Amino acid sequence: MGSEPPMPHVLMISFPGQGHVNPLLRLAKQIAAKGVLITFSTTSDTGHKIISSSDHVVSADDGVPVGNGQLRFEFLNLNWDKNDQKHVLEESMLNLDTLGPAAFADLIRKQSMARRPVTYVVNNPFIPWAVDVATDMGIPCAVLWVQSCAVFSTYYHYHHGLGEFPAETNPNISVCLPGIPTMTPEEIPSFLLPSSPYKSLTKAILEQFRNINKASRVFVNSFTELEPEAIDAISKYAQLIPVGPLVEQEDNSGSNLRGDLIKATDCLEWLDRQAPHSVIYISLGSIVTLTKEEMAEMAHALTTNGRPFLWVVRPDCRELLPQGFHEEVKGRGMVVGWSPQESVLNHSSTGCFLTHCGWNSVLETLTAGVPVIAYPQWGDQVTDAKFLVDIYKVGVRLKAPVQRNALHAAIEEVMDGSGAKGMKENAAKWKETANTAVAKGGSSDRNIQAFVDEVMKRAAGGVHSFLQV
Ligand code: UDP
Repeated sequence: MGSEPPMPHVLMISFPGQGHVNPLLRLAKQIAAKGVLITFSTTSDTGHKIISSSDHVVSADDGVPVGNGQLRFEFLNLNWDKNDQKHVLEESMLNLDTLGPAAFADLIRKQSMARRPVTYVVNNPFIPWAVDVATDMGIPCAVLWVQSCAVFSTYYHYHHGLGEFPAETNPNISVCLPGIPTMTPEEIPSFLLPSSPYKSLTKAILEQFRNINKASRVFVNSFTELEPEAIDAISKYAQLIPVGPLVEQEDNSGSNLRGDLIKATDCLEWLDRQAPHSVIYISLGSIVTLTKEEMAEMAHALTTNGRPFLWVVRPDCRELLPQGFHEEVKGRGMVVGWSPQESVLNHSSTGCFLTHCGWNSVLETLTAGVPVIAYPQWGDQVTDAKFLVDIYKVGVRLKAPVQRNALHAAIEEVMDGSGAKGMKENAAKWKETANTAVAKGGSSDRNIQAFVDEVMKRAAGGVHSFLQV
């Protein structure tokens, strides 16, 4: 290896879900741009989807240049059914828990054999075993929390029995936690409710807190200016390091590397033809599925409302659209299976975003300055909706199950109602603050730079993991 210091190499491993891949890949690109080699990993079936949805061919060994560094993909070799949708949630967690650790240890060893030993591991939630594997092999590990600090804090308090939460015997109490506005039972992450049907998901989420102290850093996809009280209050238990909002950077040379699991349809030309701030953009993320009745109510409201709209109806939901809908709205509405969401939100024709309030969508809309109609379904989405409407004041809440008149009223309120001007002004303020946080020298950029400095120092000092194989 001569006297040349080995190249700093960060191995990132993501849970196989869109809401996890996107923020981790965006963090990967920002770290790479500062002069680091990144290997981005997830399960091979998800990796296959990323590669086949991309216009760019990225082979396993060749990295692509991103700023001053490089980004390469190499996936975990796991044997499971590629087409089973259920893998996205509960079953995939069980399978990953069983098969993941050994496959991940193998991947780390392979890096040493290929003379690019791993300096640092970064993983995201739902795969806490990545922290165990890395630390057992003597490699420092950082975790990227992909939801808000407020949600982290809520789960943390619940897991450690700090504070009172709704229980079978007391289901209606509100939750009061330091640094977070009081939350009603409908506003805490729904997995913590005694009535939640997703018990194994709750278990998996809380499992993060078993070994999070082993991680040498806990990054969070948020920014100091967005959640100052929540970050400050939880710091007595866990030091959260904001590195967000993790959005595509315009000047990032790797910005054409996306983590889509479904190929996006180009709808930007259609948006170009619409009037400024006129389009209602509707997307419920990668998992939420509405009932046929909800789809019919939504379709009816969009048909009669008269405004142009862009509706993401994933391929697995397409058959839920009412018959004849496409013909009825031809010319005024566009339905796509997947959109380049950030480009849509940043397009000047987009007027508002009907969102399920997944945390990535929340940050993307704040960064683009687009007001919302918040339509949360479960999990942290309900908490995020509260923040969007009551704290950030950038939108209105739509109650589930959606009714045509309620949707119609919500659209009018956000686009033209008495509060619309205020919401737009608030959204514009968040846009500026969010973009400043990630710009060079901003609060989140400084946190990323400090991490890169540590990685460089470790690599240069030969504090290099697992050279022996
Ligand atoms: N997304 C996209 N195109 C779409 C719908 C969603 O690119 O048509 C992206 C969106 O920008 C976000 C992610 O998919 O980064 C969804 O994550 P989020 O946390 O909002 O929701 P989840 O899918 O995890 O429920």
